[in-house]
Amino acid sequence: MFYKSTRGKENLVKASEAIVRGIAEDGGLFVPESFPRIEKSFDELKEMNYKELAFYILKKYLDDFSDEELKACIDGAYDEKFENPLIAPLKYAGGAYFLELFHGKTLAFKDMALSILPYLVKTAANKTGIDKDIVILTATSGDTGKAALEGFAKVDGTKIIVFYPKDGVSEIQRRQMVTQEGDNTFVVGIEGNFDDAQNGVKDIFGDDDFNKELEDKGYMLSSANSINIGRLIPQVVYYVYSYVSLLKEGKLKDGQKINVVVPTGNFGNILAAFYAKNMGLPIERFICASNENKVLTDFINTGVYDRNREFVVTNSPSMDILISSNLERFLYEISGKDSEFISNLMSKLKTEGRYEVSEAMKDRLKEFYGDFATEEETVDAIRKVYDSSRYVIDTHTAVAYKVFEKYKNEIKDDAVTVIASTASPFKFPRSVNEALNFEQKEASDFQMVETLSKNFDIKIPKGILNLESKPVIHKATCNKENMRTIIKEFLGL
Ligand SMILES: *Cc1c(COP(=O)(O)O)cnc(C)c1O
Repeated sequence: MFYKSTRGKENLVKASEAIVRGIAEDGGLFVPESFPRIEKSFDELKEMNYKELAFYILKKYLDDFSDEELKACIDGAYDEKFENPLIAPLKYAGGAYFLELFHGKTLAFKDMALSILPYLVKTAANKTGIDKDIVILTATSGDTGKAALEGFAKVDGTKIIVFYPKDGVSEIQRRQMVTQEGDNTFVVGIEGNFDDAQNGVKDIFGDDDFNKELEDKGYMLSSANSINIGRLIPQVVYYVYSYVSLLKEGKLKDGQKINVVVPTGNFGNILAAFYAKNMGLPIERFICASNENKVLTDFINTGVYDRNREFVVTNSPSMDILISSNLERFLYEISGKDSEFISNLMSKLKTEGRYEVSEAMKDRLKEFYGDFATEEETVDAIRKVYDSSRYVIDTHTAVAYKVFEKYKNEIKDDAVTVIASTASPFKFPRSVNEALNFEQKEASDFQMVETLSKNFDIKIPKGILNLESKPVIHKATCNKENMRTIIKEFLGL
């Protein structure tokens, strides 16, 4: 299995090299040369537990890892850190199956991939003979940051630097990050929004002089964002897992097609579902749910991507994004792997903030349904699912549920539907309490967590117990022009 850049100006590389480097030199993203197929029957796969299934899927993509290496990565990642032994359980509520991806340490789906990424990066670095310290640079809309910090903290030979929008994350998210322990971790609040942080990080990856300077000092940059293929591939696993779990429970017939609904920001999670389909998983429709930053809704419906619009801060902050990085990988596939065309689109995005895809590509977009939910609709969806099923969902998952309802009303499709449930309601307790009429304007987010737990009789996850009393370790802030300076300071250069 080889990987190449979406922008075409790069040789084929093995998985381990794509993982250590994070992003290709031409600014493109690494993609598999072709999709491996699921060859075993679903009947056989449904007898596997999460780890076994992860091994089966990952081995197809990371074929330069030995069985022992890959097993060690998987064992290290999917252990008791997850509070549910199934790792990714399904709950039926409100007419759909919620795939709960939030039982890891930081209570969001990012843990699914970021608990294994550090192991993959370390192993890949050894395999490729890299003798430099790997510096993970990460931009976060709130959840990636903490999940990456947890994953990389105290891992020998690595350092991790996280940039988050200073005023654009929830109180719980901020607290989770700034209390992070580990000498190799560094957390910085940026004056700007997530796109500013992400663009800053991407520019640094593409800055040859800066990279050279770091290399001379024994450092090599890599990424924990979903631009890293090592982050994307582990996400394919849970879509296959959800399918075979439903099959095992008799909710599906073998081969029956399902729809998936994904609350989307950077287009990583939904892209993993698209990869799963390309491997042979019977998915009929991808339902792409956005909040009021509905760039993707408009794109799916018109074929025009236009980021020239106001950035809205919403109650689903992890989806407050106007530039969805992983869309590039999708465009590459639906353009028939036309890297020249993709390079063109991406440079238009950079200079004009806008591009339009070809007619043939617009046709491929029909596999997707795109719509969005307002903040009010999001809150309504939380209430509705609770009223009908006594099941509490978070704001991001609620965006997905609302769009699922819009889809059903419009298309009258009653296919079995899996909704990616991307965060625990405990991570966004203020909006969830508000939706369920337990609003306490004066209360802190931590008191809200208590309220939520008491009122709905659900246990507070370990990941946020005692968070309020933990000392704040990271106080640094910077503006977007100073990111390089602050990186050098942290590395002592
Ligand atoms: C990151 C995140 C999303 C968006 O996922 P993408 O892969 O960026 O599309 C949705 N919900 C939550 C809770 C997240 O943390």
